[in-house]
Amino acid sequence: MKYVLVTGGVVSGLGKGVTASSIGLILKACGLRVTSIKIDPYLNTDAGTMSPFEHGEVFVLDDGGEVDLDLGNYERFLDITLTRDNNITTGKIYQSVIDKERKGDYLGQTVQVVPHVTDAIQEWIERVAIIPVDGEEGPADVCVIELGGTIGDIESMPFIEALGQFSYRVGDGNFCLVHVSLVPVLSVVGEQKTKPTQHSVRGLRSLGLTPNILACRSTTELDGNVKEKLSRFCHVPLENIITLYDVANIWRVPLLLQDQKAHEAILKSLNLKGYALKPVLGEWTSRADLCDILHDPVRIAMVGKYTGLADSYLSVLKALLHASVACYRKLCVDWVPASDLEDATKKENPDAYKSAWNLLKGADAVLVPGGFGDRGVEGKILAAKYARENRIPYLGICLGMQISVIEFARSVLGLQDANSTEFDPSTQNPCVIFMPEGSKTHMGGTMRLGSRRTYFQGMSSKSAKLYGNRSFIDERHRHRYEVNPDMVPRLEEAGLSFAGKDETGHRMEIVELPTHPYFVGVQFHPEFKSRPGKPSALFLGLVAAACSQLDAVLKKCTTKTCKLSNGTSAHYENAPKSSNFAAGSFACIAILVVC
Ligand code: GLN
Repeated sequence: MKYVLVTGGVVSGLGKGVTASSIGLILKACGLRVTSIKIDPYLNTDAGTMSPFEHGEVFVLDDGGEVDLDLGNYERFLDITLTRDNNITTGKIYQSVIDKERKGDYLGQTVQVVPHVTDAIQEWIERVAIIPVDGEEGPADVCVIELGGTIGDIESMPFIEALGQFSYRVGDGNFCLVHVSLVPVLSVVGEQKTKPTQHSVRGLRSLGLTPNILACRSTTELDGNVKEKLSRFCHVPLENIITLYDVANIWRVPLLLQDQKAHEAILKSLNLKGYALKPVLGEWTSRADLCDILHDPVRIAMVGKYTGLADSYLSVLKALLHASVACYRKLCVDWVPASDLEDATKKENPDAYKSAWNLLKGADAVLVPGGFGDRGVEGKILAAKYARENRIPYLGICLGMQISVIEFARSVLGLQDANSTEFDPSTQNPCVIFMPEGSKTHMGGTMRLGSRRTYFQGMSSKSAKLYGNRSFIDERHRHRYEVNPDMVPRLEEAGLSFAGKDETGHRMEIVELPTHPYFVGVQFHPEFKSRPGKPSALFLGLVAAACSQLDAVLKKCTTKTCKLSNGTSAHYENAPKSSNFAAGSFACIAILVVC
């Protein structure tokens, strides 16, 4: 096993996660099998209890792990399926060390950060690195490890010490350290400044780690003399200094690495030069090119709580992007703060109310993502009502599905106080209820989490067709509440169709309005399994419906030649006929069979 460690210096938010994923992708493109580990030095056991407002979305894995959003980037870029153990936190490490101590495994020793915690970190890395994540047997060739935080943080010290020992133990030729740093440009003189990187590399060295490669974030390409200066002061060969300058979309980052031969530098330091092939990134390049030239917009109203904070809904945005590219449309997300749609806002802040409704009404489709807590719930219900009544394509995810059922019960069944017991515990008409197996006292890891099976109830629904007429699908879940099975017969009689259920037939997984052009709600989170070039079926359905392509897509998806995130494959070529495409762009569309 070979290891690539990615660290960050100077400031946080440099895009270390995207850099690490891109390194993984380019190594994979060289014919290597790649896995990854993310280290988060915070004390939380996992990301499940952390606010998306502060920390970005909680990404959910097949095994139910609630992890850092960077694991989503790895899964999407590398098309792999990770496990909860691929995300290491200080909380997990200390928990394992303390459990061992309580069992008496340390045989009377004084348990200390060095060697016990540092050993536990190294053992964890070695154990997890060999878990196959790409559907093939046996361990991967390379494990990319991303160390969260910035060099010098107190929290990351045990990890740095452990990784220093680890690099020494696995030896030269098996370990490559890529340090992501910042080269700021001072606006007055326009000069690229190397000092912050020099300091950060010095800090890294003083902690026992030596960088093989410097990946410098900068607004523009690094000047030759700036690279030379960095090389001299940081003791890194000139050809190992890469500039990650600002690019139009993140799919370009692996291409930047390729153009600057970063893969050669990495392969050389890992002694893999004779073993790896030339990178094959044709499909990836075509998709990045296509993404840049699309300009026929598809407008999606995202009605949520944390509007404007892309990281809070990262996977939903990525899934929308994958679907939009497949439909040859430029994705335009209109953030609609759910509470601004409510009557209370009309009185308190009429301008916000008006602008929220204008955005909603201007959209081609409406998406209500998952969420917790009652803020904005009434606004989300209004958005679902608007989409249902005006025949606007709608996708409700988890909470977005639950509120669409509440709305239907209120408006169509006339049950004015219909609600979820999450928001109104004493409602007379609880159409969404707490699941019997949940815990009301412990928040961490107690939801219905991870991959669960949904069985389609017949093949006539749009969702069944979009999933390629399969009898069941496996998607990821994260919820405590569910549609009240006692109310299902009444809802069905009134025209709501429960197109997918779990294996017991009592838990509702997919709801649809058959008479509506596209009104779908799902208890699961399809966004987590969407991939570039393999969009999630229901996102594809939403975007296709928003740009009048749904019939064509349904036809293609049922012929089983369309590549979708759930493993089905469908051949879907729907290149735009409009003349909006720049000359030459058809060449890349011809190579690319995106779906
Ligand atoms: N709050 C709802 C539940 O717990 C929805 C959760 C979600 O949207 N992820 O069931």
